[in-house]
Amino acid sequence: MEDNWQLWQSQLQSCLGCDLCRTRTNIVCGCGNRNAEIMLLGEAPGRQEDATGQPFCGAAGAKLEAFLQQLQLDKNDIYIGNVVKCRPVRPAAGGRGYANRRPSKQEILACGSWLKREIALLRPRLVITLGAVPLSLFLGKNPVMADWHGCPFQVDGADMMVFPLYHPAAVIYDRKKESDYIADLQDLRQFLQKNHLGE
Ligand code: URA
Repeated sequence: MEDNWQLWQSQLQSCLGCDLCRTRTNIVCGCGNRNAEIMLLGEAPGRQEDATGQPFCGAAGAKLEAFLQQLQLDKNDIYIGNVVKCRPVRPAAGGRGYANRRPSKQEILACGSWLKREIALLRPRLVITLGAVPLSLFLGKNPVMADWHGCPFQVDGADMMVFPLYHPAAVIYDRKKESDYIADLQDLRQFLQKNHLGE
């Protein structure tokens, strides 16, 4: 069977692969340029992404937009996706509604085949991982972000590089990371230029 974006998206839209299908409003597919050389890979949708079906449209998205401006990258020239396509939730304090949480190992595993196909369709030269969850997929272990942020590497057996960044939300909640993030973005800008990426 021919595997293409349309097929991938229509099959993903009816996914019942884990319990997140019970609480989701929308499945959040990737967005942006499907011919892009650069993929930004986040963790999982939050409240606003679940409500709209668009990745990074909430507070983390606003931060991301600012970072992209610093990188002189246009959102339309890259592709943005998530490891997990449905919002991971826990009951909110006070028993009303849901709050965001990190995706579980099982949820990451259940969504793995969608991401694998997504990357195979996109064939990015560079994946910019946002936070520990997407980075862990390439390392095969849980990374300490303080050791990995800003340290690009080649993926074994693939014509693909990874540039690890902190998750933009981490910078919202921990202002001390801001200076690291700015330095990482400057390094990433140079890395993009050196590798003729995003031109
Ligand atoms: N955080 C993510 O990792 N992804 C989103 O889409 C939104 C917030």
